Amino acid sequence: PIYLDHNAGAPMRPTVRDAMIDALNDTGNASSVHGHGRKARGRIEKARQRVARLCGAKTRAVTFVSGATEANMTALTPIWQDQGAPLYLDKLIRSAVEHPSVLSGGRFAVKDQRVVPVDSNGIVDLEELAKLLDSEDSCLVSIMAANNETGVIQPFAEIGALVRENDALFHVDAVQAAGRMPIDMEAWHADAVSVSAHKFGGPQGIGALVVRSTARVPAPLINGGGQENWRRSGTENVAAIAGFGEAAERALDDLDCVEQIGAARDRLEAGIQALCPGAIVFGKDAPRLANTTCFAVEGIPAETALIAFDLEHVSVSSGSACSSGKVSASHVLSAMGYSEEIARGAIRVSLGWDTGTRHIDRFLEVWPKIIDRLNPQARTRAA
Ligand code: PLP
Repeated sequence: PIYLDHNAGAPMRPTVRDAMIDALNDTGNASSVHGHGRKARGRIEKARQRVARLCGAKTRAVTFVSGATEANMTALTPIWQDQGAPLYLDKLIRSAVEHPSVLSGGRFAVKDQRVVPVDSNGIVDLEELAKLLDSEDSCLVSIMAANNETGVIQPFAEIGALVRENDALFHVDAVQAAGRMPIDMEAWHADAVSVSAHKFGGPQGIGALVVRSTARVPAPLINGGGQENWRRSGTENVAAIAGFGEAAERALDDLDCVEQIGAARDRLEAGIQALCPGAIVFGKDAPRLANTTCFAVEGIPAETALIAFDLEHVSVSSGSACSSGKVSASHVLSAMGYSEEIARGAIRVSLGWDTGTRHIDRFLEVWPKIIDRLNPQARTRAA
C-alpha cells in the first residue's frame, strides 16, 4: 500500500513509537511530587522544549492541548488576559480558507466575526485586511500559515506587520507548516500559533497552543486542577506529549529535505499534466508547501477517483478532506472562485517523511489506468 495523505495525518515515526512506549511503561501523574511523578514531569518538560524549538518560541510559551482543534478554539476567544487583567477583543478577523476549527469562530459570536477574501491562488487580500483592521477597534486576526487542501502559503510576515501596526493580536494556524517550512513567531509577529503532532509523525490527539508573550494569554477553554500553568486543566497525557516532543525534533530535521520532497511533488505534477494537459493545479502560481499538490481533471469526480486509487492500494484524499468521509465541494476552492463542479473534482496528494521514489512511481503507474477507467477523453483534453 502507498500512503500519500500526510496532510490528513502522517504515519507515526518509529522513534516516536519508542518514546511513547517508554513513557507508557512508567507509572505516575506529572503533578505528583514523588519520584514517579517527577519522572513524568521530566518527560513533559523535555517535550515542551522540543515543541518550543519547532515553533521558534520560548519553552514557557507552549501549552499542551488535545490537538489543533482545541488550540484554535482556545486562541479564538474575545477574552485574553494581560498580566492577570482581562483584555477584551471586539472582533475576530479570519480568512475565507481557514480550517473548519477556525471557520467556526471559536468563542466569538457570529456577529463579531469578519472574513477576509482570497484571490484565485488562495492568497488573502491584504488591502481588505487593512480596511477591516482600520474599521474595528480591538481585533484578533486568525490566518493560517499554509492551507491544508492546497498547500498555499500566506504572506504571514506582511500580515503580521499589518496586524501589529493596528495593535491587534495575531493567531496563526501553523498545523500544515510544521516540519515543512520554518516557523518563526518573531518574524511573523505572531502572538499565538497552533500545531498538531499527528501531521508530522507524532501521535493523534495531542497538539499545542504556543503564546508568545507571557503577559497575554487567552482565557482557558478547560478549567479544573490548574495543569499547564492554569492554561489547560486535566491530567497530562505523558506518552502522547513525549511522542509529540520526539516528532517535533524529527520534523525540524525534515526541513533539510524540503527540496527533495518538492522535487518528488513536481515530478508527480508533471506526470499528471503530461497525461491530462487540462488538469488544473490549484494555487500553482502561489508559494506552496513542497509536499502538497491539489488538482482536478474535468470529468473525473474526486469521489470516484479516490475509490479507484484505493482499489490500487494508493491512499490519497479529496480536496476537502472531510471528517465525515463524504466528499463535498471545498469552501477553500469556492473562495478561490472555482465552480462547484471543478471543486468536486479536487484530489489532494500530500507527501512526507516516509515518501520515497517508489511512492511516486506507483502513483504515476496507476494514474493512466484510473484515467482510462473513469474518463479516457481526459487524456486528450487541452489545458
Ligand atoms: N488546522 C489545520 C490547518 C488542519 O489541517 C487540521 C487538521 O486537519 C487542524 C487544524 C485540526 O487539527 P487536529 O486534528 O489536531 O484537531
